[in-house]
Amino acid sequence: MNAPLVVSHLAAAGMQPEIVTLAVPEDERVWVPQAPGVWFRPLMLNTVAGGWFNLLRVRKSGILSRHRHPMAVYGYVIKGSWRYLEHDWIAEEGGFVYEPPGEVHTLTVDEGVEEMITMFNVNGAMIYVDEKGDTVGYEDVFTKIDMCRKHYESVGLGAGYVDQFIR
Ligand code: FE
Repeated sequence: MNAPLVVSHLAAAGMQPEIVTLAVPEDERVWVPQAPGVWFRPLMLNTVAGGWFNLLRVRKSGILSRHRHPMAVYGYVIKGSWRYLEHDWIAEEGGFVYEPPGEVHTLTVDEGVEEMITMFNVNGAMIYVDEKGDTVGYEDVFTKIDMCRKHYESVGLGAGYVDQFIR
């Protein structure tokens, strides 16, 4: 048996508090609807570097979005699987994915996958594009925060519920 550690707390003045939370929430209201059959769950909304950690949950099959990443994206598949039409790999449960800056791809969940949950760390923005690659929309940490505020207000958690995930 190891002796209990005694650790002195050397936090710097002015530093931001940590975030510790159950990633897959017990309260269904924490999931923010993004589109029919698609939700996200904020984990860390980074207003300093510009980007976010969230869980993406999909309960439908087919094409979800075509998008471009100006900065790196990191993903960890918690449940189910998904792929990009432009690549021949499948991101499967337990898998790690790195998406390099400049990637344009089309997120797809195949028939037979009842639920997909993936943690994504998106940096910068998601730039949505059409088949020609022209921009049709975007998301950044501030549009994410706005969606969370509106949703949490509407489900009775209160708009301020999102504040615990903002740094
Ligand atoms: Fe992507």
